[in-house]
Amino acid sequence: MARSYVAEARRRVGPKRQRIRPIVERLLAEHPDATIALRFRNDLELLVSVMLSAQTTDVNVNRVTERLFEKYRRPEDYLAVPVEELENDIRATGFFRQKTRSLRGTMAKLLEEFGGEVPARMDDLLKLPGVARKTANVVIAERGPAEGIVVDTHVRRLSQRLGLTRQEDPVKIERDLIKLVPREYWNALPHLLIWHGRRVCLARRPRCEVCVLNHLCPASRVEAGTVPSQTTA
Ligand code: SF4
Repeated sequence: MARSYVAEARRRVGPKRQRIRPIVERLLAEHPDATIALRFRNDLELLVSVMLSAQTTDVNVNRVTERLFEKYRRPEDYLAVPVEELENDIRATGFFRQKTRSLRGTMAKLLEEFGGEVPARMDDLLKLPGVARKTANVVIAERGPAEGIVVDTHVRRLSQRLGLTRQEDPVKIERDLIKLVPREYWNALPHLLIWHGRRVCLARRPRCEVCVLNHLCPASRVEAGTVPSQTTA
């Protein structure tokens, strides 16, 4: 029964290849202000902000970095203080011991291999301790053309609900999105899905009745008269 409902919902909205452009265009019109919420003034601050944002909110990171970036301006500054001092300065972002280890390892690597600058390429960013693909993708996309598509919790949930992927693993979801989404949208799409996920397609109670995608979404409860689930991709 559930299976046939899902199949019917997919039939109703049509193939994802035909839906992807209208989905992005509607989201662009709906969220023209969708940009990164982290605050930073240069590449180093961008990298640090993204590293600190793991497992916490952007608002929380901004609160911490407002003071942090006055004190730590160069990679050397993160290595010049005792470990406990840096731990204390970023404690409010959670997982502060692990994040301190990653920050110090990254700063040492930046100085050793990259002349103290944040590298531009994915391969090089992935050499930095504690920098995984998602962090690298965010950093690259903020500095120029994206090399991949950022997949966070919102991007994952919305991609699944919209029937753009059936995968659970972020790396596999990114692979599906890269195949599907025209490259000109790689920078914008994650921000659009994140903002739509925060404002409309909420995790527990998606607001399908006011969603601009409800005729393009197989999980919409407006057309089908049922509550959408996260696994209808
Ligand atoms: S129609 Fe509902 S489930 Fe689909 S994207 Fe919009 S809010 Fe989310």
